[in-house]
Amino acid sequence: MELIVIGFIVGLIFISCLIKKKINEKNIEKFKKSSLYNEFVSLNSYYETKFILGENRKEIQINLRWQEFQSNIYQKKLREIIRSNYSPFTQLIQIHLINLPLYNSYENNWLLIKNKINDKVIGKFIELNKLKPIVFPFLEIVLFYRTRSGDVISKKLIHKYDELLRDYQIVTKQIELETFNHHEKQKNKEYIRIERSKMSDSLRFEILKRDNYRCQVCGLSAKEGVVLHVDHIKALARGGKTEIDNLHTLCERCNLGKGVKSL
Ligand SMILES: [Zn+2]
Repeated sequence: MELIVIGFIVGLIFISCLIKKKINEKNIEKFKKSSLYNEFVSLNSYYETKFILGENRKEIQINLRWQEFQSNIYQKKLREIIRSNYSPFTQLIQIHLINLPLYNSYENNWLLIKNKINDKVIGKFIELNKLKPIVFPFLEIVLFYRTRSGDVISKKLIHKYDELLRDYQIVTKQIELETFNHHEKQKNKEYIRIERSKMSDSLRFEILKRDNYRCQVCGLSAKEGVVLHVDHIKALARGGKTEIDNLHTLCERCNLGKGVKSL
């Protein structure tokens, strides 16, 4: 007897669920014929072509030492990770820069439609079919610490987009500066090579003759047993040129004593 009652109740619940589902489906079908739905569809199809859609979640794992792990000091490591994965990060940042303003206007329009809907089920439907561009990005940072016995402790942190952008900009500046310095060094090397090649035997002889074959610092000459050099007054490394005005005679000792310093 009891079993029959329970069976009856279960059956009733089942049927009422079925009816409710049917009603919901009908409501959605009805909604799909409304002008509001049309508005929603055209809103989506307009933005769908502009948005970059995809996975919003991005997780980065960082191994730390105990001190760093305890105090959540991971910025430096994160920048190293950004640096060694610079182009995927650049892509990520660019996607957000494109999507974010678009998303704000989509969200506003979407809310206008959503606010006109009183039905809970249709509200859910609208929510489910909302476009999901890659925006409001944050990194999920998972910090790891490996103990001496090999156990791993971890914790999850949220690194906000603004912070990520700032880290990215710092890394970008670093790279730019290094590239610039490298470029400058290369340019300087080339300059020195060219200036050095201008030092001909005849020019050297001309300078020695002008200086009476004497060191312009100590006054000794080749007759007194010193080796004479023709030297740049302003060093090539400092932008000096191989020109008569920038050349003088020095003995080996005075020249080596001078080094790269300009007199
Ligand atoms: Zn000398």
